[in-house]
Amino acid sequence: RAAETPTPTRPLSAPSPEPRVIGADTVVPLDDGGSVTYANFDYAASAPCLEPVHEAVTRALPYYSSVHRGAGYASQVSTEAYENARGTVRRFLGAWERAAVVFTRNTTDALNLLAHAAPPGTTTVVFETEHHAALLPWKRAVRLPAPATPAEAVDAADRALAEAPAGPRLLVVTAASNVTGEIWPIAELARTAHRHGARIAVDAAPLAPHRPLDMSALDLDYVAFSGHKLYAPFGAGVLAGRADWLRAAPPYLKGGGASAAVTDRGDATRWSADAERRHEAGTPNVLGAIALAAACDTLAATGWEGLIRREEELLARLRRGLAALPEVRELALWGEHAPRVGIVSFVVDGWNARDAALTLSGTHGIGVRDGRFCAHPFIGRLLGAGPECAEGDGTALRASFGIGTNEEHVDRLLDALTRLARAGH
Ligand code: PLP
Repeated sequence: RAAETPTPTRPLSAPSPEPRVIGADTVVPLDDGGSVTYANFDYAASAPCLEPVHEAVTRALPYYSSVHRGAGYASQVSTEAYENARGTVRRFLGAWERAAVVFTRNTTDALNLLAHAAPPGTTTVVFETEHHAALLPWKRAVRLPAPATPAEAVDAADRALAEAPAGPRLLVVTAASNVTGEIWPIAELARTAHRHGARIAVDAAPLAPHRPLDMSALDLDYVAFSGHKLYAPFGAGVLAGRADWLRAAPPYLKGGGASAAVTDRGDATRWSADAERRHEAGTPNVLGAIALAAACDTLAATGWEGLIRREEELLARLRRGLAALPEVRELALWGEHAPRVGIVSFVVDGWNARDAALTLSGTHGIGVRDGRFCAHPFIGRLLGAGPECAEGDGTALRASFGIGTNEEHVDRLLDALTRLARAGH
């Protein structure tokens, strides 16, 4: 660990006005032949791109060229932009100077890379409340039931890590639930993991667009997140953290870039010793990385304080409105006062979630998510339906939002839900 001692590299930046998202004025058709401005409440699935992200991609496009291996000017510019993007992500996450920052396709890819790189025999402790991307990739997992309180989460992790077989141990936990929005006690969980000599990996996909995350201050070993949930386009994500497991593991993908020496007969005799090169074989998603970094820069420059204040106002407005509807039940693990990000799941009495979501879209131009949000065991637990329940049973609605959401959107959703609830189904 000494060689990777965290030293914060986060820059100080002056706040700038809230950026605009692309698509804020998009008009969508309604079932009655009319049309309305789209009210997007599906940010937790994929958030719309920020305008500065689009501008960063536009600036990079004239230099569209391969990175690392080309000698031409455009290749040099692209390589520099790609590697600068890595530095930006490192600062955004408050990662230490020598932390690995591997560009992946998304969070799922990042967590699967970590599962691949964890030494053989690693025991992974994970809560059943996790998104499938954090629940499923591990070779040997101890699964913990949904904790009744944040303190119980810490106690359960403590016990599980104490009882885990000798050898490497990894605690995997989300920083905020993609179902309830509730924020998990990752600082305490990191301390608990380290007390047992275990490592902690944080799935930051739902938290990163809403809150700053300082890996050094929180003492996190790994963080994974997705660009497309952070106001950048699809196709780029990140695994950041300690380099040793990544350097020791075989390449995630075998091919160009990962191989440092290949014999005449086609055998790799040496793989790149650099954690990033080793696990980014093939031509990387250069524009994706540049876009993701531009989103990080934009959020940091905008200033979290204002973004959080605005989100909390809208969240309080939405939750107050939902609480006033007796037919609507919000889903929560830790009660109504637990801190949370702008993600709310709920069920509406008398309505199947799919029909309700389609009505919100076709009648009101509102886009919400319905289903089980890739968290089947958790939804089963919240709804009292078993994880094996048939598709369509035991589903919920989710409204999630961020930059670009305004009071009119929230009021339209509440008004639409009021009509839905009264109509029954
Ligand atoms: N983890 C959580 C908590 C998520 O909400 C999601 C996406 O919904 C993922 C992981 C997976 O992200 P991606 O689909 O970008 O791989």
